Amino acid sequence: MNTNGCAHDRFHENSRQETVCLDCGLPLEEVLQEWLAALRRRDKMEIIDFGCSMWAEDPAWTCTFDGVEGDGERNVRLGVLFLAQDTADIGAFFDDDTGRPWVVISQIYPLPEELSTRYKAAVGDCMGGWPEEDHRDKIVAMTGYASGVPFDPQAIRPASAGDKRIPGVKMPAGVEMPCFATAEEARTFCRSAAETLQAFFWMIGFFLDKPINLMGETGWQYIRSMVGRQ
Ligand SMILES: [Zn+2]
Repeated sequence: MNTNGCAHDRFHENSRQETVCLDCGLPLEEVLQEWLAALRRRDKMEIIDFGCSMWAEDPAWTCTFDGVEGDGERNVRLGVLFLAQDTADIGAFFDDDTGRPWVVISQIYPLPEELSTRYKAAVGDCMGGWPEEDHRDKIVAMTGYASGVPFDPQAIRPASAGDKRIPGVKMPAGVEMPCFATAEEARTFCRSAAETLQAFFWMIGFFLDKPINLMGETGWQYIRSMVGRQ
């Protein structure tokens, strides 16, 4: 990775026995700091705000399946949907007596372009056709058709959040989703949770290993059923 016009790809020990870049002389420690800073600047995450939901994606967010239905190894690009819902609208599921009726449900999805032909057809049948062109329309159709892999959006928290965990409600598989007094608070949370997603996706395998429903299906199995060949 280039910084200050140097690729820093060759190192040697100088006369003071420090490891430095052979070309520009920058000490290894500082090269590492510059690389980390460049990584932070390389913010390719895209957020699409749908109002009561928010979609986030980044080219770096992938998971790797070895052999999706005879397909060989395959990288599947992923995104995240944060859905802020008034529990009054889904009252059968939640029982609100906390004064915090807004729940944020966080879910991992494949990018809609990764879905299998068969799956796209099923979405299309149910949602009035599969939108061939628009990425946003595809996200709306996919996420309206089926839920994604639920995850705990507070599993990784910025240091500024301290130890304070926002209490919430448990989904059937045991993942807790945080609750808020107002829609605005819920939306603010979605924004700050999106900022922790880079770190989250570094350990995506760990999250996909967990069972996501009462049948014990894992996140891997669930996503595979969406993107499998055909
Ligand atoms: Zn250099």
